[in-house]
Amino acid sequence: MDAEWIAFSAGLKPAIRRTVDPAELPRVEAQLRSGGAVVLRARETARLGAREQAVLYVARSAEHAEALREAEEGVLPGRGSAADAPERHRAIGRLLGFPSCCVEAFLVRLHRGVDRLEADGPGGLAEDYVAARCAWVPAADARVNPLLMPVRAQLISFYPCRYDCAEAVGLAEAVRALIAARQPKTAASLMGLLSRPVAVAPDGARSLLELDDARAEVLRAAAPRRSDGASDPRDAALAERLVGARVGADGEVTAATLTAAPKVWCVDFGGVSLQARFS
Ligand SMILES: [Zn+2]
Repeated sequence: MDAEWIAFSAGLKPAIRRTVDPAELPRVEAQLRSGGAVVLRARETARLGAREQAVLYVARSAEHAEALREAEEGVLPGRGSAADAPERHRAIGRLLGFPSCCVEAFLVRLHRGVDRLEADGPGGLAEDYVAARCAWVPAADARVNPLLMPVRAQLISFYPCRYDCAEAVGLAEAVRALIAARQPKTAASLMGLLSRPVAVAPDGARSLLELDDARAEVLRAAAPRRSDGASDPRDAALAERLVGARVGADGEVTAATLTAAPKVWCVDFGGVSLQARFS
């Protein structure tokens, strides 16, 4: 199930940006084009960690896809940053239909360094971890959970400024309702997954949690699984250390098995009674 593609083809999203393993490129491009989309390739690859990734811009018109490609030239991940990076990121966000509040929150982190929580604090943190700490609210809305994107479980494809951002929730809800109307079982199982509490470690490892009734102790923890059943070994190692850990009211996770600082953090996407709302 590809929520982004479903949303794009139904007109809920103006365009899609995809990072693709270069070996997979011909297959993915052909698939997207057969669905009727215009697909353009970035002129350079992006570098995500040690991986070279091709970047694809998928739109309904060549002009829109070209505008996206031009906007990201000079700010491709791992390829240096153009002097007008904020303007370029704003244009990318606008062309992809992201809420401006969420784009501006991203630009604040970009200015500070996406790998640090404070301007004068230590760097080297995973971007997902920093984004999660910045967006954290006690009652996080499962529909804007961005932490399971690595296993393709998502309704949105950007970091929300807050886990209860009204604009982000509005976009996500439109996508959820569309999937629910077409594939009710798929929508229900996706929401079941997105509604689980998630722990994120400073290195970006993450784990799905089951909490006790007080939402304060970890009863079970498991690595998120891709559709082929595989999981990231780092996520599995984190899950093993989390059983019995305490979760503070502010999301801080403490256990003897975890490093003292920076802390593992928990986002409770299941704290509000969501199941009833989505079933
Ligand atoms: Zn927002």
